[in-house]
Amino acid sequence: MNSETPPDPKFETLAVRTQMSRSHHREHSTPLFMTSSFVFDDAEQARALFADEVPGNIYTRFSNPNTNELVDKICQMEKAEDGIATASGMSAIFTSFMALLRQGDHVIASRSVFGSTHQILTQILPRYGISFDYADIANPDSWEKLFKPNTRMVFIETPSNPALDLIDLEWLGKLCKSKNVILNVDNCFCTPYLQTPLEYGADLSIHSATKFLDGQGRTIGGLIAGRRDLLKEIRFYARHSGPSLSPFNAWILSKSLETLAVRMERHCQNALELAKYLETLDDIEVVKYPFLPSHPQYKLAKKQMRLGGGVVSFQVKGGISRGRKFLNSLEMFSHSANLGDSRTIATHPASTTHSKLSEAERLAVGIEPGLIRVSVGLEHIDDIKNEIDMAIVKSRS
Ligand SMILES: *Cc1c(COP(=O)(O)O)cnc(C)c1O
Repeated sequence: MNSETPPDPKFETLAVRTQMSRSHHREHSTPLFMTSSFVFDDAEQARALFADEVPGNIYTRFSNPNTNELVDKICQMEKAEDGIATASGMSAIFTSFMALLRQGDHVIASRSVFGSTHQILTQILPRYGISFDYADIANPDSWEKLFKPNTRMVFIETPSNPALDLIDLEWLGKLCKSKNVILNVDNCFCTPYLQTPLEYGADLSIHSATKFLDGQGRTIGGLIAGRRDLLKEIRFYARHSGPSLSPFNAWILSKSLETLAVRMERHCQNALELAKYLETLDDIEVVKYPFLPSHPQYKLAKKQMRLGGGVVSFQVKGGISRGRKFLNSLEMFSHSANLGDSRTIATHPASTTHSKLSEAERLAVGIEPGLIRVSVGLEHIDDIKNEIDMAIVKSRS
Protein backbone atom coordinates (compact mmCIF):
# COMPACT_ATOMS: atom_id res chain seq x y z
CA MET A 1 0.00 0.00 0.00
CA ASN A 2 0.94 3.60 -0.60
CA SER A 3 2.71 5.61 2.09
CA GLU A 4 -0.01 8.30 1.78
CA THR A 5 -2.59 6.15 3.58
CA PRO A 6 -3.60 7.36 7.07
CA PRO A 7 -3.16 4.99 10.06
CA ASP A 8 -6.73 3.60 10.35
CA PRO A 9 -8.33 4.29 6.98
CA LYS A 10 -12.07 3.94 6.41
CA PHE A 11 -13.58 1.95 3.51
CA GLU A 12 -13.76 4.92 1.09
CA THR A 13 -10.18 5.91 1.84
CA LEU A 14 -8.88 2.38 1.33
CA ALA A 15 -10.77 2.23 -1.95
CA VAL A 16 -8.94 5.18 -3.44
CA ARG A 17 -5.62 5.10 -1.58
CA THR A 18 -4.70 1.43 -1.84
CA GLN A 19 -2.23 1.60 -4.70
CA MET A 20 0.98 -0.07 -5.74
CA SER A 21 4.02 2.08 -5.01
CA ARG A 22 4.76 4.81 -7.48
CA SER A 23 7.41 4.20 -10.15
CA HIS A 24 10.23 6.59 -11.05
CA HIS A 25 7.76 8.21 -13.50
CA ARG A 26 5.86 9.66 -10.49
CA GLU A 27 2.46 8.70 -11.99
CA HIS A 28 -0.64 9.62 -9.95
CA SER A 29 -3.05 6.94 -11.21
CA THR A 30 -1.93 3.30 -11.23
CA PRO A 31 -0.31 2.30 -14.54
CA LEU A 32 -1.07 -0.92 -16.39
CA PHE A 33 1.52 -3.71 -16.46
CA MET A 34 0.81 -5.72 -19.58
CA THR A 35 3.67 -8.17 -19.21
CA SER A 36 3.48 -11.92 -19.10
CA SER A 37 6.73 -12.34 -17.17
CA PHE A 38 9.25 -10.52 -14.99
CA VAL A 39 13.03 -10.55 -15.11
CA PHE A 40 15.36 -11.57 -12.29
CA ASP A 41 18.21 -9.38 -11.07
CA ASP A 42 20.43 -12.44 -10.62
CA ALA A 43 20.41 -16.20 -10.15
CA GLU A 44 20.05 -15.92 -6.38
CA GLN A 45 16.93 -13.73 -6.68
CA ALA A 46 15.39 -16.18 -9.15
CA ARG A 47 16.01 -19.06 -6.75
CA ALA A 48 14.61 -17.14 -3.76
CA LEU A 49 11.47 -16.09 -5.69
CA PHE A 50 10.77 -19.67 -6.80
CA ALA A 51 11.40 -20.93 -3.27
CA ASP A 52 8.80 -18.41 -1.97
CA GLU A 53 11.45 -16.95 0.33
CA VAL A 54 10.88 -13.40 -0.92
CA PRO A 55 7.74 -11.77 -2.33
CA GLY A 56 7.75 -10.69 -5.97
CA ASN A 57 6.34 -11.33 -9.40
CA ILE A 58 7.62 -14.15 -11.60
CA TYR A 59 4.95 -14.76 -14.21
CA THR A 60 1.49 -13.21 -14.66
CA ARG A 61 -0.29 -16.57 -14.31
CA PHE A 62 0.96 -16.49 -10.67
CA SER A 63 0.75 -12.75 -9.91
CA ASN A 64 1.09 -9.30 -11.49
CA PRO A 65 1.28 -5.78 -9.99
CA ASN A 66 -2.24 -4.93 -11.20
CA THR A 67 -3.86 -8.09 -9.86
CA ASN A 68 -1.89 -7.68 -6.62
CA GLU A 69 -3.26 -4.16 -6.15
CA LEU A 70 -6.81 -5.35 -6.77
CA VAL A 71 -6.41 -8.26 -4.35
CA ASP A 72 -4.83 -6.02 -1.71
CA LYS A 73 -7.83 -3.71 -1.98
CA ILE A 74 -10.53 -6.40 -1.82
CA CYS A 75 -8.81 -8.04 1.17
CA GLN A 76 -8.89 -4.77 3.09
CA MET A 77 -12.53 -4.20 2.16
CA GLU A 78 -13.53 -7.74 3.16
CA LYS A 79 -11.24 -7.68 6.24
CA ALA A 80 -9.63 -10.83 4.86
CA GLU A 81 -6.20 -12.28 5.62
CA ASP A 82 -5.53 -13.17 2.00
CA GLY A 83 -7.10 -13.24 -1.45
CA ILE A 84 -6.76 -14.08 -5.12
CA ALA A 85 -8.16 -12.73 -8.40
CA THR A 86 -9.54 -14.99 -11.13
CA ALA A 87 -10.79 -14.58 -14.68
CA SER A 88 -14.51 -14.71 -13.79
CA GLY A 89 -16.87 -15.17 -10.89
CA MET A 90 -17.43 -18.77 -11.97
CA SER A 91 -13.70 -19.52 -12.07
CA ALA A 92 -13.47 -18.12 -8.51
CA ILE A 93 -16.28 -20.41 -7.34
CA PHE A 94 -14.99 -23.44 -9.27
CA THR A 95 -11.42 -22.89 -8.06
CA SER A 96 -12.59 -22.69 -4.43
CA PHE A 97 -14.40 -26.02 -4.90
CA MET A 98 -11.60 -27.83 -6.70
CA ALA A 99 -8.86 -26.57 -4.38
CA LEU A 100 -10.65 -27.43 -1.14
CA LEU A 101 -12.83 -30.46 -1.91
CA ARG A 102 -11.69 -34.06 -2.32
CA GLN A 103 -13.27 -37.20 -3.71
CA GLY A 104 -15.91 -38.39 -1.22
CA ASP A 105 -16.59 -34.93 0.22
CA HIS A 106 -20.08 -33.50 0.62
CA VAL A 107 -21.27 -29.91 0.12
CA ILE A 108 -24.36 -28.17 1.45
CA ALA A 109 -25.56 -25.30 -0.75
CA SER A 110 -28.39 -22.84 -0.28
CA ARG A 111 -31.09 -23.57 -2.83
CA SER A 112 -31.39 -21.07 -5.71
CA VAL A 113 -27.68 -20.42 -6.18
CA PHE A 114 -26.50 -18.78 -9.42
CA GLY A 115 -27.32 -20.89 -12.51
CA SER A 116 -23.75 -21.93 -13.37
CA THR A 117 -23.04 -22.77 -9.70
CA HIS A 118 -26.08 -25.06 -9.87
CA GLN A 119 -24.60 -26.69 -12.99
CA ILE A 120 -21.23 -27.25 -11.25
CA LEU A 121 -22.93 -28.81 -8.22
CA THR A 122 -25.25 -31.04 -10.23
CA GLN A 123 -23.22 -31.86 -13.38
CA ILE A 124 -19.51 -31.41 -12.71
CA LEU A 125 -18.68 -32.17 -9.05
CA PRO A 126 -20.41 -35.61 -9.16
CA ARG A 127 -17.84 -36.68 -11.82
CA TYR A 128 -15.19 -36.30 -9.12
CA GLY A 129 -17.17 -38.14 -6.46
CA ILE A 130 -18.29 -34.96 -4.66
CA SER A 131 -21.93 -34.94 -3.59
CA PHE A 132 -24.17 -32.13 -2.42
CA ASP A 133 -27.52 -31.32 -0.86
CA TYR A 134 -29.57 -28.18 -1.19
CA ALA A 135 -30.68 -26.49 2.01
CA ASP A 136 -33.99 -24.69 2.26
CA ILE A 137 -33.46 -20.96 2.93
CA ALA A 138 -36.97 -20.53 4.34
CA ASN A 139 -36.39 -23.26 6.91
CA PRO A 140 -33.07 -22.80 8.79
CA ASP A 141 -34.03 -25.46 11.36
CA SER A 142 -33.70 -28.08 8.62
CA TRP A 143 -30.02 -27.31 7.94
CA GLU A 144 -28.40 -29.07 10.89
CA LYS A 145 -29.58 -32.53 9.85
CA LEU A 146 -28.03 -32.09 6.38
CA PHE A 147 -24.52 -32.21 7.86
CA LYS A 148 -22.81 -35.57 7.31
CA PRO A 149 -19.46 -36.82 8.61
CA ASN A 150 -17.99 -36.06 5.13
CA THR A 151 -19.50 -32.56 4.81
CA ARG A 152 -16.59 -30.25 4.07
CA MET A 153 -18.18 -27.01 2.81
CA VAL A 154 -21.33 -24.94 3.04
CA PHE A 155 -21.85 -22.64 0.06
CA ILE A 156 -24.46 -19.86 0.17
CA GLU A 157 -25.71 -16.68 -1.42
CA THR A 158 -27.43 -14.08 0.73
CA PRO A 159 -29.66 -12.37 -0.28
CA SER A 160 -30.83 -15.10 -2.63
CA ASN A 161 -31.29 -14.36 -6.31
CA PRO A 162 -33.91 -13.33 -7.39
CA ALA A 163 -36.25 -13.93 -4.41
CA LEU A 164 -34.08 -11.81 -2.07
CA ASP A 165 -34.48 -14.09 0.96
CA LEU A 166 -31.73 -13.82 3.57
CA ILE A 167 -29.59 -16.30 5.46
CA ASP A 168 -28.47 -15.34 8.97
CA LEU A 169 -24.69 -15.19 8.61
CA GLU A 170 -23.92 -15.14 12.33
CA TRP A 171 -26.09 -18.21 12.97
CA LEU A 172 -24.61 -20.12 10.04
CA GLY A 173 -21.07 -19.04 10.87
CA LYS A 174 -21.45 -20.55 14.35
CA LEU A 175 -23.08 -23.72 13.02
CA CYS A 176 -20.27 -24.28 10.50
CA LYS A 177 -17.59 -23.63 13.15
CA SER A 178 -19.19 -26.18 15.47
CA LYS A 179 -19.14 -28.74 12.64
CA ASN A 180 -15.64 -27.76 11.48
CA VAL A 181 -16.96 -27.07 7.98
CA ILE A 182 -15.82 -24.29 5.60
CA LEU A 183 -18.41 -21.54 5.11
CA ASN A 184 -18.06 -20.17 1.57
CA VAL A 185 -20.22 -17.11 0.74
CA ASP A 186 -20.92 -15.76 -2.75
CA ASN A 187 -21.02 -12.06 -1.78
CA CYS A 188 -21.58 -10.78 -5.30
CA PHE A 189 -25.03 -9.25 -4.68
CA CYS A 190 -23.82 -7.14 -1.76
CA THR A 191 -20.18 -6.28 -2.38
CA PRO A 192 -18.04 -5.70 0.74
CA TYR A 193 -19.50 -2.21 1.04
CA LEU A 194 -22.83 -3.71 2.11
CA GLN A 195 -21.86 -7.00 3.75
CA THR A 196 -18.64 -8.53 5.10
CA PRO A 197 -19.36 -12.25 5.67
CA LEU A 198 -15.92 -12.96 7.18
CA GLU A 199 -16.85 -10.79 10.18
CA TYR A 200 -19.77 -13.17 10.85
CA GLY A 201 -17.66 -16.31 10.77
CA ALA A 202 -17.50 -17.13 7.07
CA ASP A 203 -14.17 -18.54 5.86
CA LEU A 204 -14.33 -17.30 2.27
CA SER A 205 -16.11 -14.44 0.52
CA ILE A 206 -16.33 -14.82 -3.25
CA HIS A 207 -17.21 -12.28 -5.92
CA SER A 208 -18.19 -12.08 -9.48
CA ALA A 209 -16.37 -8.78 -9.96
CA THR A 210 -18.30 -8.57 -13.24
CA LYS A 211 -21.32 -7.18 -11.37
CA PHE A 212 -21.35 -4.25 -8.91
CA LEU A 213 -17.57 -4.28 -8.33
CA ASP A 214 -16.98 -3.22 -11.92
CA GLY A 215 -20.43 -1.68 -11.98
CA GLN A 216 -20.23 -0.43 -15.52
CA GLY A 217 -20.67 -3.62 -17.50
CA ARG A 218 -17.16 -3.68 -18.95
CA THR A 219 -15.25 -6.68 -17.63
CA ILE A 220 -15.54 -10.27 -16.46
CA GLY A 221 -13.60 -11.02 -13.28
CA GLY A 222 -13.64 -12.95 -10.01
CA LEU A 223 -12.22 -12.58 -6.51
CA ILE A 224 -11.79 -14.81 -3.48
CA ALA A 225 -10.97 -13.35 -0.05
CA GLY A 226 -10.65 -15.23 3.21
CA ARG A 227 -8.63 -17.41 5.57
CA ARG A 228 -4.90 -17.56 4.91
CA ASP A 229 -4.62 -21.36 5.17
CA LEU A 230 -7.46 -21.89 2.68
CA LEU A 231 -6.07 -19.27 0.30
CA LYS A 232 -2.74 -21.10 0.36
CA GLU A 233 -4.43 -24.19 -1.08
CA ILE A 234 -6.48 -22.10 -3.51
CA ARG A 235 -3.38 -20.24 -4.71
CA PHE A 236 -1.55 -23.52 -5.33
CA TYR A 237 -4.49 -24.84 -7.35
CA ALA A 238 -4.90 -21.58 -9.32
CA ARG A 239 -1.19 -21.14 -9.99
CA HIS A 240 -0.98 -24.53 -11.65
CA SER A 241 -4.40 -24.68 -13.33
CA GLY A 242 -4.36 -21.08 -14.60
CA PRO A 243 -7.67 -19.21 -14.13
CA SER A 244 -5.72 -15.93 -13.72
CA LEU A 245 -7.33 -12.53 -14.20
CA SER A 246 -5.83 -10.47 -17.01
CA PRO A 247 -3.81 -7.44 -15.80
CA PHE A 248 -5.99 -5.23 -17.99
CA ASN A 249 -9.19 -6.35 -16.25
CA ALA A 250 -7.49 -6.06 -12.85
CA TRP A 251 -6.48 -2.50 -13.69
CA ILE A 252 -10.08 -1.64 -14.65
CA LEU A 253 -11.49 -3.34 -11.57
CA SER A 254 -9.11 -1.65 -9.14
CA LYS A 255 -10.19 1.71 -10.54
CA SER A 256 -13.86 0.61 -10.36
CA LEU A 257 -13.43 -0.03 -6.64
CA GLU A 258 -12.39 3.58 -6.13
CA THR A 259 -16.04 4.55 -6.72
CA LEU A 260 -17.72 1.49 -5.18
CA ALA A 261 -19.00 3.24 -2.05
CA VAL A 262 -20.58 6.18 -3.88
CA ARG A 263 -22.08 3.92 -6.54
CA MET A 264 -23.54 1.48 -4.00
CA GLU A 265 -25.04 4.35 -1.98
CA ARG A 266 -26.93 5.52 -5.07
CA HIS A 267 -27.86 2.01 -6.30
CA CYS A 268 -29.36 1.30 -2.88
CA GLN A 269 -31.07 4.67 -2.52
CA ASN A 270 -32.70 4.27 -5.96
CA ALA A 271 -33.63 0.64 -5.25
CA LEU A 272 -35.29 1.46 -1.91
CA GLU A 273 -37.21 4.33 -3.42
CA LEU A 274 -38.31 2.18 -6.36
CA ALA A 275 -39.37 -0.67 -4.02
CA LYS A 276 -41.45 1.72 -1.90
CA TYR A 277 -43.03 3.17 -5.02
CA LEU A 278 -43.87 -0.27 -6.46
CA GLU A 279 -45.67 -1.13 -3.20
CA THR A 280 -48.09 1.76 -3.83
CA LEU A 281 -49.06 0.61 -7.34
CA ASP A 282 -52.27 -1.39 -7.91
CA ASP A 283 -50.83 -3.32 -10.88
CA ILE A 284 -47.85 -4.65 -8.88
CA GLU A 285 -47.77 -7.35 -6.22
CA VAL A 286 -45.25 -9.08 -3.94
CA VAL A 287 -42.49 -6.50 -3.95
CA LYS A 288 -39.32 -7.94 -2.39
CA TYR A 289 -36.46 -5.78 -1.15
CA PRO A 290 -34.41 -6.47 2.00
CA PHE A 291 -34.72 -2.93 3.41
CA LEU A 292 -38.51 -2.69 2.92
CA PRO A 293 -40.17 -2.90 6.35
CA SER A 294 -42.59 -5.42 4.76
CA HIS A 295 -39.71 -7.84 4.02
CA PRO A 296 -40.12 -10.82 6.39
CA GLN A 297 -36.41 -10.62 7.34
CA TYR A 298 -36.18 -6.82 7.58
CA LYS A 299 -34.53 -6.98 11.03
CA LEU A 300 -31.89 -9.46 9.88
CA ALA A 301 -31.24 -7.36 6.77
CA LYS A 302 -30.65 -4.29 8.94
CA LYS A 303 -28.27 -6.30 11.11
CA GLN A 304 -26.01 -7.85 8.50
CA MET A 305 -26.29 -5.43 5.57
CA ARG A 306 -25.32 -1.75 5.57
CA LEU A 307 -27.98 -0.97 2.91
CA GLY A 308 -30.58 -3.06 1.05
CA GLY A 309 -28.67 -3.70 -2.17
CA GLY A 310 -29.31 -2.80 -5.79
CA VAL A 311 -31.85 -5.46 -6.74
CA VAL A 312 -35.66 -5.36 -6.41
CA SER A 313 -38.02 -8.21 -7.35
CA PHE A 314 -41.76 -7.95 -7.97
CA GLN A 315 -44.67 -9.33 -9.93
CA VAL A 316 -46.93 -7.56 -12.34
CA LYS A 317 -50.54 -8.63 -11.75
CA GLY A 318 -51.77 -10.79 -14.62
CA GLY A 319 -49.31 -13.69 -14.49
CA ILE A 320 -46.65 -14.63 -16.98
CA SER A 321 -48.28 -13.12 -20.10
CA ARG A 322 -48.60 -9.70 -18.46
CA GLY A 323 -45.04 -10.02 -17.13
CA ARG A 324 -43.74 -10.65 -20.66
CA LYS A 325 -45.80 -7.76 -22.05
CA PHE A 326 -44.36 -5.57 -19.31
CA LEU A 327 -40.79 -6.53 -20.30
CA ASN A 328 -41.53 -5.95 -23.98
CA SER A 329 -42.94 -2.50 -23.16
CA LEU A 330 -39.73 -1.29 -21.53
CA GLU A 331 -37.88 1.39 -23.45
CA MET A 332 -35.05 2.71 -21.27
CA PHE A 333 -34.33 -0.28 -19.00
CA SER A 334 -32.01 -2.82 -20.59
CA HIS A 335 -33.55 -6.25 -21.05
CA SER A 336 -30.55 -8.39 -20.10
CA ALA A 337 -29.64 -11.29 -17.82
CA ASN A 338 -26.88 -9.31 -16.15
CA LEU A 339 -27.01 -7.23 -12.96
CA GLY A 340 -24.90 -4.69 -11.11
CA ASP A 341 -24.59 -2.13 -13.90
CA SER A 342 -24.93 1.66 -13.94
CA ARG A 343 -27.85 1.07 -16.34
CA THR A 344 -31.08 -0.35 -14.91
CA ILE A 345 -31.65 -3.92 -16.09
CA ALA A 346 -34.88 -5.93 -16.07
CA THR A 347 -34.81 -9.74 -16.19
CA HIS A 348 -37.43 -12.47 -16.30
CA PRO A 349 -35.68 -15.16 -14.18
CA ALA A 350 -38.07 -18.05 -14.97
CA SER A 351 -37.24 -17.99 -18.70
CA THR A 352 -33.57 -16.94 -18.48
CA THR A 353 -31.25 -17.12 -15.44
CA HIS A 354 -33.24 -19.86 -13.69
CA SER A 355 -34.61 -21.69 -16.72
CA LYS A 356 -32.45 -24.76 -15.90
CA LEU A 357 -34.55 -25.41 -12.79
CA SER A 358 -37.86 -27.23 -13.03
CA GLU A 359 -41.07 -25.28 -12.41
CA ALA A 360 -41.38 -26.96 -9.01
CA GLU A 361 -37.77 -26.12 -8.11
CA ARG A 362 -38.38 -22.51 -9.10
CA LEU A 363 -41.53 -22.23 -7.01
CA ALA A 364 -39.68 -23.74 -4.04
CA VAL A 365 -37.27 -20.80 -4.12
CA GLY A 366 -39.88 -18.11 -4.68
CA ILE A 367 -39.53 -17.67 -8.44
CA GLU A 368 -43.14 -17.24 -9.56
CA PRO A 369 -43.67 -17.45 -13.34
CA GLY A 370 -44.35 -13.70 -13.56
CA LEU A 371 -41.52 -12.55 -11.28
CA ILE A 372 -39.42 -9.69 -12.61
CA ARG A 373 -35.99 -8.80 -11.24
CA VAL A 374 -34.74 -5.26 -11.60
CA SER A 375 -31.09 -4.38 -11.03
CA VAL A 376 -31.53 -0.72 -10.27
CA GLY A 377 -29.02 1.54 -11.98
CA LEU A 378 -27.72 5.04 -11.49
CA GLU A 379 -30.24 6.89 -13.68
CA HIS A 380 -32.35 9.55 -11.92
CA ILE A 381 -35.05 7.90 -9.79
CA ASP A 382 -37.80 9.97 -11.48
CA ASP A 383 -36.87 8.49 -14.86
CA ILE A 384 -36.80 4.99 -13.35
CA LYS A 385 -40.30 5.46 -11.90
CA ASN A 386 -41.59 6.94 -15.17
CA GLU A 387 -40.34 3.92 -17.06
CA ILE A 388 -42.27 1.62 -14.69
CA ASP A 389 -45.45 3.71 -15.07
CA MET A 390 -45.13 3.66 -18.85
CA ALA A 391 -44.62 -0.12 -19.02
CA ILE A 392 -47.55 -0.76 -16.68
CA VAL A 393 -49.89 1.25 -18.90
CA LYS A 394 -48.60 -0.26 -22.16
CA SER A 395 -48.78 -3.83 -20.84
CA ARG A 396 -52.47 -3.45 -19.88
CA SER A 397 -53.68 -3.66 -23.46
C1 LIG B 1 -22.81 -13.42 -12.24
C2 LIG B 1 -22.73 -14.21 -11.01
C3 LIG B 1 -21.78 -15.24 -10.88
C4 LIG B 1 -20.85 -15.63 -12.02
O1 LIG B 1 -19.94 -14.63 -12.31
P1 LIG B 1 -19.21 -14.49 -13.75
O2 LIG B 1 -18.29 -13.33 -13.51
O3 LIG B 1 -20.28 -14.23 -14.75
O4 LIG B 1 -18.50 -15.76 -14.00
C5 LIG B 1 -21.74 -15.93 -9.69
N1 LIG B 1 -22.58 -15.65 -8.67
C6 LIG B 1 -23.49 -14.67 -8.76
C7 LIG B 1 -24.40 -14.40 -7.61
C8 LIG B 1 -23.61 -13.92 -9.92
O5 LIG B 1 -24.54 -12.96 -10.02
